[in-house]
Amino acid sequence: MNPRAVLKPRRALPFYARHPWVFVGAISAVVGAPADGDAIDLHSNTGDFVARGIWNSKSKIRIRLYSWNSDENLDRDFFHRKLETAVRFRRDTLNLMGAGAACRLVFSESDGLSGLTVDRYDRWLAVQFTALGMASRRDMIVELLKELTGTEGMFLRTERGIGKLEGLELHDQLLAGTLPDGPMTITEDGLQFRVNLCEGQKTGFYLDQRDNRRAAARYAAGRTVLDGFCYTGGFSLHAARAGAAAVDGVDVSESALGLARRNAELNNLASVSFARADVFEHLSALVAQGRRFGMIVLDPPKFARTRSAIPKAIEGYHRLYSLAVRLLNPDGILVGCCCSGLIPMTTLDELVAQVSAGQRRDIQIIERRGQAPDHPVAASCPETSYLKCFICRVM
Ligand code: SAH
Repeated sequence: MNPRAVLKPRRALPFYARHPWVFVGAISAVVGAPADGDAIDLHSNTGDFVARGIWNSKSKIRIRLYSWNSDENLDRDFFHRKLETAVRFRRDTLNLMGAGAACRLVFSESDGLSGLTVDRYDRWLAVQFTALGMASRRDMIVELLKELTGTEGMFLRTERGIGKLEGLELHDQLLAGTLPDGPMTITEDGLQFRVNLCEGQKTGFYLDQRDNRRAAARYAAGRTVLDGFCYTGGFSLHAARAGAAAVDGVDVSESALGLARRNAELNNLASVSFARADVFEHLSALVAQGRRFGMIVLDPPKFARTRSAIPKAIEGYHRLYSLAVRLLNPDGILVGCCCSGLIPMTTLDELVAQVSAGQRRDIQIIERRGQAPDHPVAASCPETSYLKCFICRVM
């Protein structure tokens, strides 16, 4: 018998609705003495079984839920089933596991595995534990991933701040097998990208933007393109290959730009160049110079990490979009991305309307897009929907 956590009256609804995060404030009592990382059953105040999860006394998310079936134990078989389902979808349905390909194999809550993210880069895996319950099952998870993917090597990536939230002490390190010496190469839509698995941002590449890069490229032919926040050249290379007249990529990270330049060479794309600059300052300078572009991509980092940061973040997007609109020729294309999960699509609609009014330019929203399908959104966990990508026509 597992230890039991009992919910306060009237607090059970989200968990019957299969939301996986039980915050400390929803719990009235704990029966038994769960250690951090132990399985625990969640009961309503009237004594009914609601779900089964994993306990962590050090996190505000005191219990993360993994099963709503009282007959199902959170054992090796359970995690095997969950991981197998996740991998099978990427391999057989999405066809994202061919040689040289890269995709997100496991996306935490979206795959029923709150606190575990796994990205596959060709023969290697990058693993992130963002919950103690997953980190404490690390050996089992590593074994299962080996079995399911036949991977050559697995690397643990950590994100700032997570350790404190979960009471977890983790460091980037090799988890299994061997890794390539230096950057390896992936293929996306026939374009090759060098990826640094151990030092790159996120786990090395922004896999969530795969389909948006392809979508944006459809509008690039013949246009002069500015790719703001270009990282290793994702949008830039797609636009260049699609026949853009010229592409300027801008980023603050010198190491990202180094890879971006190598990526352009690797794909024999001579119409692309990259420069180091702060995008806000760079756009202002271009406006002052009277420069014009046919297409501008803006894919900034997450501006809003907390609720209190939302107003400032919206101001930031407003400033970026306004500058971009001033730099666009009539009939220009603006690709605006926002990976702040706390800012919903509707807020961006309003923002675009405000920019249109402020700059006295008609703007058509042509496409409202999200994250690639290997980053599915769990219907019961809206927090898993975070990426927005607007493609607009600026008249
Ligand atoms: N579009 C890229 C991903 C962009 S990620 C792709 O498809 O791969 C966001 C990038 O913004 C990072 O590379 C980061 O180095 C850069 N960045 C953050 N703040 C910046 C700023 N103020 N000016 C320029 N680049 C910035």
